[in-house]
This record gives sequence, C-alpha cells and structure tokens, in this order.
Amino acid sequence: ARRKLVAGNWKMHGLAADLGEISAVSIAAETAGADVALCLPATLIERAVRAAPGFAIGGQDVHQSDKGAHTGCVSAAMLIDAGASLTIVGHSERREAQGESDADVKAKAESALLAGLSVILCVGESDAVREAGDAVSTVSSQLDSSLPRGDVASAGVPDRLAVAYEPIWAIGTGKVPSIADIGEMHAALRERLKAAYGEAGEGVRILYGGSVKATNAAEIFGVDDVDGALVGGASLKTSDFLPIVEAAR
Ligand code: 13P
Repeated sequence: ARRKLVAGNWKMHGLAADLGEISAVSIAAETAGADVALCLPATLIERAVRAAPGFAIGGQDVHQSDKGAHTGCVSAAMLIDAGASLTIVGHSERREAQGESDADVKAKAESALLAGLSVILCVGESDAVREAGDAVSTVSSQLDSSLPRGDVASAGVPDRLAVAYEPIWAIGTGKVPSIADIGEMHAALRERLKAAYGEAGEGVRILYGGSVKATNAAEIFGVDDVDGALVGGASLKTSDFLPIVEAAR
C-alpha cells in the first residue's frame, strides 16, 4: 500500500514570525502515520530547515535550467542548496498567472528529479471544463503531456514523484468535487501513470487538493487512489493542518 503524503502549500504566505508553526508541524510529523511536508516561499526555506531539522521542506516552483539569465527564478540546485528536499511544479496559479504550459511543467519536473528533488506535479480542470463534462479527458491529457519522461523520470518513479489533482474551481472556494468524481478522476490518472511507467505507476502517489479541511479530509482519504492531500489555506495554521495529517493513516 502507498503511504499517504500530506503536503502544505503556503503560497505567498510566511515570514520569520511563522517559523514556530513550521517547527510545531515538524514535531507532530515525527509520530504521524503519513509523510508530511511544507512547501514554502523560497525566502523562508533555509530558515525553516534550520528551525525543523530533518523535516521535509519544499519549494513551490523551480526553473528548468540549472542557472543563467532568468531574473527572479530559482533552480533545483538552489532549492537543494537551501535545504529543500522537494518542490511543487505546475500549480494552476502558475499555469494561469505565469502562462506555464504542459511542456514547461514537464521540463521543470525533469530538472527537479535530475537534481535529486522530489516533485509534486499539479493538474486540474477549470469550472467550464467540469461543467462541459470534459474534466477526466482534459486532466488526463494534461497529465500525459506534463509527466517527466525518460531515464530521469524512471529514476524518480515511484518514490520521488507525486501527482496532485487540484480542480481549479475547488481551490480556496470551499467547494469540493463529489466523492464519486474524485474517485473517477484518481482512477483515470492512475491509468495514465501506468501507461507512462508500467507497474511503477502503481507506486506514484496521487494527492487531492482543493479546499481540504479537517472536516472533509477523512472522507477524501478514504477514496481509492487518493494517497494524500495538497493543502493550501488549511496548512497555514498548525491547529488547522494537524487534524488533516491525523486523518491520513
Ligand atoms: P486550498 O486548500 O486553500 O483550497 O488550496 C489548495 C491548493 O491550491 C494547494 O496547492
């Protein structure tokens, strides 16, 4: 069975004053029944690693190049240098606001895996696509074109690659797909992972993200092929996040 992963995505939140929250989460994570991680703003990573030694701290994006003339960007080597062990790639907020394509996301995932990071690769449909009845086909093809390929991918699969299904209309809205819709999507994504990686695709964790709270986490974690969660707003406070971690066993 796949051990669950509960990852927090702090987005553009987090200052020195919040380091105490990170260290509290890291202490609780030591005895949790699931893997736990926090993906932080790049500015906070090194201090968080010092405040929570041994705990999984990640970035929220990575550039596909090792280094170069890319103002404002951060490479996988830089994340590792700061002490990060993982990164998110392809979050819908970056796909939309920064215009990242599936090809960009694939290149970012490959670069991160090659450098030795673990990767949480995000996919998800808009409300218009969901309403048109095209969610499963759209997200399946988005995953097909975003997945890392080749030797780099095989080296990271299944242990260092996770996929996060995050319907855009569920992010920060309090709306969540039905349990049946989550199950249908995760089963379809599992098939895509097996098509890409063979049996190793069985080991890749598929997280659900979008308005996960203490009140809905246990039910969502009970769905087949839901192997954890990517949590936004409810990851910012330990008192909101730890009950979600507790629900993942
Ligand atoms: P919320 O949990 O705030 O809906 O955010 C989900 C998300 O985008 C995590 O990456």
